[in-house]
Amino acid sequence: MTKGIAPMDELSLFTLALGVSKPWQVVDLKFSKEQGRLDLWLDFQKGAKFPCPTCSETKEGDVHDTLDRTWRHLNFFQYETFLHARVPRIRCGQCGVKQVDVPWARPGSGFTLLFELLVLSLAREMSVAALAEMTSEHANRLWRILEHYVERARKAVDLSTFHQLGIDEFSLRKGHVYMTAFSDLDTSRVIFLGEGRKKGVVEDFFEDLRSRDVDPAQIEVVCCDMWDPYLNGIGKFLKKALVVFDRFHVMSQINQALEIVRRREQRENSVLKKSRFLWLKNPQNLTAHQETRLASLKSLDLKTARAYQIKLALARFWEIRDPAEAIAYLKRWYNWATHSRLEPMIRAA
Ligand SMILES: [Zn+2]
Repeated sequence: MTKGIAPMDELSLFTLALGVSKPWQVVDLKFSKEQGRLDLWLDFQKGAKFPCPTCSETKEGDVHDTLDRTWRHLNFFQYETFLHARVPRIRCGQCGVKQVDVPWARPGSGFTLLFELLVLSLAREMSVAALAEMTSEHANRLWRILEHYVERARKAVDLSTFHQLGIDEFSLRKGHVYMTAFSDLDTSRVIFLGEGRKKGVVEDFFEDLRSRDVDPAQIEVVCCDMWDPYLNGIGKFLKKALVVFDRFHVMSQINQALEIVRRREQRENSVLKKSRFLWLKNPQNLTAHQETRLASLKSLDLKTARAYQIKLALARFWEIRDPAEAIAYLKRWYNWATHSRLEPMIRAA
């Protein structure tokens, strides 16, 4: 005999396991080994009253009629599990006849909250296609769960103090698909993802801002790449915002120019072969061996070495903290770069 365990029938056990409480309880179950599924029927106790789902009427309403509903629940071991219930509709003094909320699912969903939670957790690590395969659900139904919660999370984001916009492109599927991320730079949070990197994507973003009651005029600063479709879109929607090109994008332009200089010079001077990364890497990231080689190359009278000095000088610009000094420095740098007789550097400057 087992001690300490109160006798409990199957139905009460499932009521407990599902976490439902009065007036709800499990009233029937059917387990089919052949079909690999478990069906549980929930019902409310006779004479139960329910609160109105839409208003704050304190008086609970009597059941008007019921609707049969089914929800997919977490598997019971390998068995797909479904909950069934007749969901009451009540007559509310203020709102009329309303379907009540059930504690195990959100309104309108064909899944229980626990099943949705499982999908949300797994979707962080798995593709929806894999998840659909694993749960034997149609991918579209799973997408609807994700869309619901993503939209809810987006609505909860407070954009009242949003004033610095970052725009960044990125690619998916090895560069075959481009996307644009719009973020709040103060909170480092992505607030909109747009498809593509054309002007239309900027328009989509402002359309989304409008739907979230955000006035574009509150954006004071935009940080983005030197990419015409973005700049055109910004010019259209943000006439007064300050456009900032960030260090990463500026340095990547100057690095590209430097590499063009090196490649051209390499055709005449083989000493530059296989030296590409020496010039492009940050000096502090070079290995001792690379440092020695770069030092010997720098001592030669090379166009690449001059372009490299121009690049390093530009990188030092971001170390200057005093605005007036920074402007003067940038002017001197520009003058130097544009008189370098290195065409790619002139164009980049
Ligand atoms: Zn009501």
